[in-house]
Amino acid sequence: MNAAHSLNFAAALIGDASDSIPKILLVDDEPRILSSLHELLKPYNFHLSTASCGEDALDLLAHEKFDLALLDMRLPDMSGLDIMNVIRTDSPDTDVIVISGNSDIDSAIGALKRGAFDYLRKPYAKEELLKTVDNVLKQRALAEKHRRITMQLENSEKNYRYLVDNSPDIIYALNDDGKFTFVNNRVQQLLGYTREELIGKHYSVLVHDEDLELARYVFQERRVGERASHNIELRLKCHKAKGGSLTFENSLLTISFNSMGMYLSDEKKKSGEYFGTYGVARDITERKRAEALITYQAYHDILTDLPNRALFKDRLGLSIIQSRRNETRLAVMFIDLDRFKLINDTMGHVTGDELLRQVAARLKGCLRRGDTLARIGGDEFILLMTDLKDRQDAVEVAEKFLRSLQQPFFLGSNETQISASIGIALYPDDGASIDELIRYADLAMYHVKAQGKNGHGFYDSSMVDASHQKLALEKDLRKALERNELEMYYQPQIDSASGRIVGAEALMRWNHPVRGLLTPGEFLPYAEENGLIVPISDWMLEATLRDLSAWNEAGISPSRLSINLSPQCLERGFPRKLKDALLHRDITPNQMEIEITENICIRNPGLAIEQLKMLSMSGVSVAIDDFGTGYSSLAYLQRLPIHTIKIDQSFVKGIVFDGAHSPIILAIISIAKELGLNLIAEGVETELQASYLENAGCSIMQGFLYHRPLSRQGLTQLLVQQAP
Ligand code: C2E
Ligand code: MG
Ligand code: MG
Repeated sequence: MNAAHSLNFAAALIGDASDSIPKILLVDDEPRILSSLHELLKPYNFHLSTASCGEDALDLLAHEKFDLALLDMRLPDMSGLDIMNVIRTDSPDTDVIVISGNSDIDSAIGALKRGAFDYLRKPYAKEELLKTVDNVLKQRALAEKHRRITMQLENSEKNYRYLVDNSPDIIYALNDDGKFTFVNNRVQQLLGYTREELIGKHYSVLVHDEDLELARYVFQERRVGERASHNIELRLKCHKAKGGSLTFENSLLTISFNSMGMYLSDEKKKSGEYFGTYGVARDITERKRAEALITYQAYHDILTDLPNRALFKDRLGLSIIQSRRNETRLAVMFIDLDRFKLINDTMGHVTGDELLRQVAARLKGCLRRGDTLARIGGDEFILLMTDLKDRQDAVEVAEKFLRSLQQPFFLGSNETQISASIGIALYPDDGASIDELIRYADLAMYHVKAQGKNGHGFYDSSMVDASHQKLALEKDLRKALERNELEMYYQPQIDSASGRIVGAEALMRWNHPVRGLLTPGEFLPYAEENGLIVPISDWMLEATLRDLSAWNEAGISPSRLSINLSPQCLERGFPRKLKDALLHRDITPNQMEIEITENICIRNPGLAIEQLKMLSMSGVSVAIDDFGTGYSSLAYLQRLPIHTIKIDQSFVKGIVFDGAHSPIILAIISIAKELGLNLIAEGVETELQASYLENAGCSIMQGFLYHRPLSRQGLTQLLVQQAP
């Protein structure tokens, strides 16, 4: 009973899948014994096969895999040993229980020597046989289980090894002397040491000398868990690759470590059976480099590599503290390039950037040791000079700057020149705080610009008043429209041959409640800066067309009325507004001329040309104002629908004595003739100028010699007088 019970158990051990039901071969030449064996084993869950001679047995063995053979030693055609020989070579996995009579006990012993599991003597006790079979099967089941576990272990070991060796991190273990007992392959890729080179070596061979102290905590870490070392950064030395294919760019890498103590077993941890340290180390050199770059970029201007505003302010703050302590003087110098925007617009941003780089390099070349030059805006640089002996020190550097810029700049195929306006503020004379000093240097720079650019100047407290006035003016300008403080004036254009008024230019005036009558130069630049120019121009259009309508109704209109147009308006759809307004008021477009400057084409030539063509097609004519002072090329002018050229007053001013000669005026006149354009000379103040112009071929004139700009009533009076 017991045996039967354990037999079931053995079979179950092997497994319950049908292919794992034990296969047993029964070999005996005595049919009685064979069938009793069969009967005995039949109740159990076995596949049973029988053979009554050696040949049948071998045949079955050749075609099937048996777990167990119950083998009679004496068979008619061969001995059981012969069969065992075959089993040993061909099916070594088959276990054999030898069943032998007394007479062939020797061969049974021979069979045991050949690896038979056990032997039973005939006549065997059934219980004994079942027990022996059970033993075999149990043993096999155990062996199978062992094999599987071993395989699983091997696989898992392989997996771990794979993971450890292919880890992006260095994984290592040290003994309690700090010598390597294990390290994965990654160490070779990162540091250039083979694992064999490192095993047995002390960790200090890897560590940068300055980090050795810190390294002790990492490499001799005894703690575990939360308290162990986390993310500690050390610099490790790379192995210098000698000639081989490995080359290591850096001799140092920054590595982040996590390490913990190793203990023989958990229970012994408390009693301190420490046997080394285990750790994971990650290469963070790239991250460190990226962090350094980000920090650098946060404090530098990428284009010129100069410090930026943030770093400048930081240094200025420190220098102010130092100057206060040492009772020394420092200077803040604001440097703004003149007409940079124009160069940027005409030559393109890439060239503009190149110019800024070259300017930065030249300015850097003028610095004294310890000075900080920063770029704080498009074409704005700022310099901090410490330990100034006197103002003259700052003057010398500023002049050096200006001189260094005088040499031409080569930008690809272009050659260009640029100047700068420099404002200087001093500590402690002018201000005591970072922002004050920068603001005052900026103000001083604006002053230089207003004075004709290309120079330097010191801050003066009167400039603050001027800038306050500017701010106040800007505020007032917003209200000027609502309060109806703007007014249009008209300056007659005279045909010098007949003395008649043939046209008039509309010029804006602002009746400022406190400051009196202001000319456009005093307020329009601010309007252009803050966008007010658009509503102001809309108002101007309304006012001039209203006046023109009135003159038309009275039948006294000049042949042409011109208005000035700022480039911004051209972009904001002013031409269409003009067209619509003319239609609305029933004014012939031929009566209108718009004045633009040459620079109108710089920003967006395509749009300018298209808008002007549209106006021109409707009958409005186009004049180029201040001709000769701008930057546009004749090539552009030829593409514009132009009807009139206005000779700039600066050229007319040049004619100051009898016999004076102006090649520019002559050239402009010949261009106009060539292109079939009307000519008007502006700013004619003397008879001399008028006769020179007339002789040169320009007969329409505008200037104080004839009339200053007049109010609407003033011009109306003149028009009435000359009406037929
Ligand atoms: P502009 O178009 O070149 O106008 C001629 C300027 O020369 C006017 O200055 C006029 O008063 C002045 N002028 C005329 N004859 C003489 C003279 O014999 N000698 C001298 N020294 N000056 C003379 P104003 O009125 O101060 O205008 C300045 C500029 O403001 C104008 O120059 C024009 O570009 C602009 N402007 C005037 N009105 C408007 C306007 O309604 N809209 C826009 N966008 N700009 C305007
Ligand atoms: Mg004009
Ligand atoms: Mg002009």
